[in-house]
Amino acid sequence: MRQPQIIDRSRDQHFMREALALAAQGAAMGEVPVGAVLVQGGEIVGRGFNCPISGSDPSAHAEMVAIRNAAQSVSNYRLPGSTLYVTLEPCSMCAGLIVHSRVARVVFGALEPKAGVAQSQGQFFTQGFLNHRVMIEGGVLAEECGAILSEFFKARRAKG
Ligand SMILES: [Zn+2]
Repeated sequence: MRQPQIIDRSRDQHFMREALALAAQGAAMGEVPVGAVLVQGGEIVGRGFNCPISGSDPSAHAEMVAIRNAAQSVSNYRLPGSTLYVTLEPCSMCAGLIVHSRVARVVFGALEPKAGVAQSQGQFFTQGFLNHRVMIEGGVLAEECGAILSEFFKARRAKG
């Protein structure tokens, strides 16, 4: 997770807060709260939150929704120079999409110990067969990003 460039931390936190707000929208719908925004040219061009249940769509992870939304809004199937902010470490499905869509950088919040493939379950993005390099950084607002998830599961258990 070493980052050679100087990264503007407050900017990363700003966009991560936008992703957190989307995660909260998902929680309000009973979806596991994960949110994502796609930033290109300094602007948010795509937004998404995890919504597989309401959409009857197993692929509707936050990253997937945000990248689809961004590609539609800029009318390009590739998103060069963009940064994806997501509150949770990406899974294998989303990691594949991130490479296919040519996202330049991924910033995530909390670790996903079971299914995360940026760091927790191997390091997908450093695999030699990939034809596109993605910069990865984790731990931005990690506490907030983890707390929204643990609060969601706690409330769900309390409901029985
Ligand atoms: Zn995913």
